[in-house]
Amino acid sequence: MKQVALVTGASRGIGRAIALQLSREGYAVCINYYQHQALAEDLARQLRGEGREAAAIQADVASRAAVDEMVHRTEHTLGPVTLLVNNAGISRQGLFQDVDDALWERYFAVNVTGARNAIQAVLPHMLHEKRGCIINISSIWGLRGASCEVAYACTKAALVGLTRSLALELAPSGIRVNAVAPGCIETDMVRSLGSQTRDMLISQTPLGRLGTPEDIAQAVAFLASEKASFLTGQILTADGGFIL
Ligand code: NAP
Repeated sequence: MKQVALVTGASRGIGRAIALQLSREGYAVCINYYQHQALAEDLARQLRGEGREAAAIQADVASRAAVDEMVHRTEHTLGPVTLLVNNAGISRQGLFQDVDDALWERYFAVNVTGARNAIQAVLPHMLHEKRGCIINISSIWGLRGASCEVAYACTKAALVGLTRSLALELAPSGIRVNAVAPGCIETDMVRSLGSQTRDMLISQTPLGRLGTPEDIAQAVAFLASEKASFLTGQILTADGGFIL
């Protein structure tokens, strides 16, 4: 059966590395992006240049209509989605008292409702086939808690609940649901915190370095593979030992 992966938020950072890795493992890949069209289209061109099938498709994952349209276009262009990676996410540092309604709602709309929208859009085909794989990108901050990133940490904890509950509900249908909880990974998200915070995060990571997007892509590829065929409802922490 043709393997088709939809990776949300794949124009940059972790999502980009996941799309690259899955493509090299033989998946036709939908590279979802929100604002960075040129980056997403460059990646799709690069993958097609390597002889792979790839398409860059814009959608704000917070919008159910936009996600439905993206999944429809993916099916039309590449085929039905067999692997969904819910990677799109937003974060910003700030005091809890300064998180207004709009910011709180946007965090949940992108990080949690976005995953809900994408899962509900790809599920009909997976249920019909009685197979499929869903991987949510949570965070160590959703497991441990995070000062000055309370709203973000709440959304990432919600993805843990979503992963475990959905794994139970979908297991009888042959669909596995897992999550990766990355530690501190060298992307725009961490670079935006400044070099002092970056150095502090490195010093707090037992393995003594930030993770790379490729580290997370390898974890995702493993969970998606047959090697993980007996794993569901798991949260794979990839953090260099940060929360040990
Ligand atoms: P990033 O460099 O900031 O990239 C974020 C990606 O998400 C971009 O491709 C962006 O698309 C996309 N995106 C943002 N809002 C979107 C929306 N409404 N609809 C669709 N796509 C949207 O982030 P990252 O560091 O790679 O993080 C990726 C995931 O890993 C996130 O879920 C994050 O919470 C999680 N994570 C990251 C770290 C870390 O240390 N970096 C640690 C733990 C967990 P455009 O660029 O096209 O707008």
